Amino acid sequence: MNQGLIPTSEAVSNLIQELSKLPGIGPKSAQRLAYYLLRAPEEQTGLLAEALLSLKQKTMLCSVCLNVTDADPCFICRSDQRDHSKVCIVEQPQDILALEHTRIYHGLYHILHGAISPTEGVGAGDIRIKELMERLQDGSVEEVILATNPNLEGEQTAMYLSKLISPLGLRVTRLARGLPFGTELEYADDVTLTSAIEGRQEF
Ligand SMILES: [Zn+2]
Repeated sequence: MNQGLIPTSEAVSNLIQELSKLPGIGPKSAQRLAYYLLRAPEEQTGLLAEALLSLKQKTMLCSVCLNVTDADPCFICRSDQRDHSKVCIVEQPQDILALEHTRIYHGLYHILHGAISPTEGVGAGDIRIKELMERLQDGSVEEVILATNPNLEGEQTAMYLSKLISPLGLRVTRLARGLPFGTELEYADDVTLTSAIEGRQEF
């Protein structure tokens, strides 16, 4: 039992403990959420529990782009409406949501699941670069758009990838122009992101 919690019920304490592990949720918020759920109809808590379980049980990574998906390949990789000659490289699955929201990009994606960060001990081998390089071998991709975050880690990763991909003779462009340095793609607004895609430059 966690110290500082009034042990009225182990079930409530357990939930508070688990909720407080979530990003942005402190002990106070965790308590508030736990007591809210305690009062909520059983149907609602059931649906939440089911959604949490499905999150791990029913999702997988697309074998082509490594996006989170219910079916493999994912709907983007499967679509014949998409331009299969362009691959946009992003750090996280949620970056795709931001880019898709602009409706200006119709190519494919590749998710690195991280960025190179020597200070945090993340090297090139720790993110999904090997899968990307294998994918670029078959000659169907003509342009690679580096859409890693416009911050230190994102820039380092873009530089590394550019050196790796350029010898393949593909067009390599960088998205970040117009995006303020130090931000994350996920939080960029549609207008900024749209001009960043349209104004992408050779890298
Ligand atoms: Zn995919």
